[in-house]
Amino acid sequence: MSPTDEPLPNTTEKAPDDPDAFRVMLVDDNALVRRYITSLLVDQGMTVTTCDNGEEAFRVICASPFDLVVTDLEMGGIPGLHLCRMLRSAPATASLPIVVVTGEEGAWTRFRCEHAGADAWVVKRDFRQLPDIIRRLVGDRARSKSEGPPIEPLAQLCTVLDAEANRAVVLAEARALLSVLDEPEVFAQRCGQLLRGVLDAGSVALVLKLGGAERVVAVAPPIEASVLRQPVEPLVRVGDPSGSFFAFTERAHQVPIVVGSREIGALWFDSESAVMSQRDLDSGKWLAEGLAGPLEVYRLFHHIQHAATIDPLTNVANRRAMEKRLQAERARSSRYGVSFGLLLCDIDHFKSVNDTHGHAVGDDVLRQVAGALADTVRDVDMVGRWGGEEFVVLLSHQTRAGASVAAERLRRTVADLGPIDDGPARVTMSVGVAALEGEETVAELVKRADDALYEAKRSGRNRIALAPTPTRDD
Ligand code: GH3
Ligand code: MG
Ligand code: MG
Repeated sequence: MSPTDEPLPNTTEKAPDDPDAFRVMLVDDNALVRRYITSLLVDQGMTVTTCDNGEEAFRVICASPFDLVVTDLEMGGIPGLHLCRMLRSAPATASLPIVVVTGEEGAWTRFRCEHAGADAWVVKRDFRQLPDIIRRLVGDRARSKSEGPPIEPLAQLCTVLDAEANRAVVLAEARALLSVLDEPEVFAQRCGQLLRGVLDAGSVALVLKLGGAERVVAVAPPIEASVLRQPVEPLVRVGDPSGSFFAFTERAHQVPIVVGSREIGALWFDSESAVMSQRDLDSGKWLAEGLAGPLEVYRLFHHIQHAATIDPLTNVANRRAMEKRLQAERARSSRYGVSFGLLLCDIDHFKSVNDTHGHAVGDDVLRQVAGALADTVRDVDMVGRWGGEEFVVLLSHQTRAGASVAAERLRRTVADLGPIDDGPARVTMSVGVAALEGEETVAELVKRADDALYEAKRSGRNRIALAPTPTRDD
């Protein structure tokens, strides 16, 4: 004990075993400050125990109950803010009020104090306010407990700093996903890698609410591996877009992913062993926390993209998206020397559907026709609403002959739809068929398909007509 640590002459401490005493732990490496604050608090009837370093203070606090801690910010050994973190992370002292006293002023000091878990912050020239601050803090907060085996200060410090560092790494990795937002597949793949890398769990799934439905953004290990299990015990099921499901045992952990007060999704993970490790539980929490921001941006990004490219009435591509794809397909076709087919489909006598059955039924007919077209074409093809009751179908890598076969199949599919509720007994459409020829532009191709459509209408409707191949002037 240094000379300055001798019992303070003006101390009028109540007996430490007085059950009614308000017990303060004061930690400061400056003897004068200790002496000054002690007398200030003792004058208020408080019992003060002093330490000149954080390590010893932590030991003493763990060994006997206190009502409040006053600690210096900068000290040799464990500094005040790490002492804060150590106390906050140990269950017995987690809600013990802590006041930091410091010679440093400024926003950065205040910011660090708040984030380390301090309840209040006093600059040394305002020491006189300390008793008031203490009185304000001590409401319903519990006195620390001194139960359980003693905790080694350095071990506790390592635990705390380890957790902070791991959390920071997980948050940074989650934030890095923002750089691949516009590539959904890469985003999903990176999500999967992150989940797999951070969690030792048996299976992991990341579920996001997208457009009213729950979509699985990422799973690890991939679906082909062990995730899809035989339902041998009670299971929690998480649907996926392809209709299969990821099965988790009842022990599976679900951490909601929350933005503000909205739950935008959830992280599911399942342990291979009977008991989930604390590390996985912590990691799951950090992942959910770190992924919330990027997933919300991902969600908004897709919402905007959907709104910009999808026709809201029929849920097929809008004209803008279709035009973009046509240009891309033309570039691809001329590069690889292959053609593609283009169908212009127009519902026959649609005006009379509106006139006879009303606009709502007309809308329903548009939805049903669009749905039928989209369901009939191949995955590589694309259906778009060109305007009004006209649809465009792009048939990837297709010749004129192949396009006419597809056109005839689509025409028949629509004609076979059957009666529409409260609407016409039958819907038919006419189709103009063309395939890209030579170096013609998209506009030229569309013009030829449009001329063919006119021909199909002219010659009786509910039929397809092939555009003649373009004639060359030379
Ligand atoms: P044709 O067989 O020659 O193609 O005759 P049609 O009546 O189908 O063609 P017309 O171009 O004369 O009429 C198209 C109608 O489509 C007129 C328009 O009111 C209607 N229409 C356009 N967009 C919509 C829509 O979003 N909803 C509904 N219900 N009707 C629409
Ligand atoms: Mg029409
Ligand atoms: Mg029309």
